[in-house]
Amino acid sequence: MINVTKNFNQILELIQNFSTLAHRSANSVRLLAVSKTKPIENIIDVYKAGQRIFGESYAVEAADKITKIKEMGITDIEWHFIGPIQSNKTKLIANNFDVVHSLDRIKIAERLNDQRLESLPKLKVLIQVNISNEEQKSGCNIDEIDNLISYIKTNCPKLELKGFMGVAEDTENKEIIDSQFKVLSEIFNHYKNIDENISELSIGMTNDMDLAIKNGSTMVRIGSAIFGAREYHKNN
Ligand SMILES: *Cc1c(COP(=O)(O)O)cnc(C)c1O
Repeated sequence: MINVTKNFNQILELIQNFSTLAHRSANSVRLLAVSKTKPIENIIDVYKAGQRIFGESYAVEAADKITKIKEMGITDIEWHFIGPIQSNKTKLIANNFDVVHSLDRIKIAERLNDQRLESLPKLKVLIQVNISNEEQKSGCNIDEIDNLISYIKTNCPKLELKGFMGVAEDTENKEIIDSQFKVLSEIFNHYKNIDENISELSIGMTNDMDLAIKNGSTMVRIGSAIFGAREYHKNN
């Protein structure tokens, strides 16, 4: 049996160590526990160990788990959507999540804004930028960022832009990952200087969290190091 509580505590310690190495305070980097494909029991174990921010990637699976966890009386979890967004899933995402990391195009911004219920607070969004230069990867191109930001500011009163998210190339080559994080870090700093609302740089996963923290990550998204290898079901 996998001990998610032990894994979780080890990750907190790692974040602290990498922060120290980067001359940053440990509380400047938050942990997003990525529970996609994992059962509710695993989420509850990590919740009981103190974690309050969880990330999910599949809208239908996530909405089901979020509803059930709320029905158990647990209402102080902040839910982050981090997966690619299909337009027929925007309503589920708009109304079950607090933060969306994977906003990458105008059409999705428009739909999230239209479908977010008036009774809910603004939906926090990060723009996912394609930093890995891989054709099939999600994320908007760097030259489209300005346009997407002005669309959100002008047309999306129910969205609140908080920053940027990136996924580095899946490679063993640390220099490539480092340079891709550097690109997004510079973009983040540029917009942070002109917009005081911009405060989140979501970079870093299980295999590259050290480089992400070195490059200024404010939130690392860690899945397998806490919950073990993913379990894919046909419903995903
Ligand atoms: C699944 C996923 C993660 C977590 O990845 P691990 O390598 O398991 O830590 C982080 N970010 C995104 C966008 C993901 O889809």
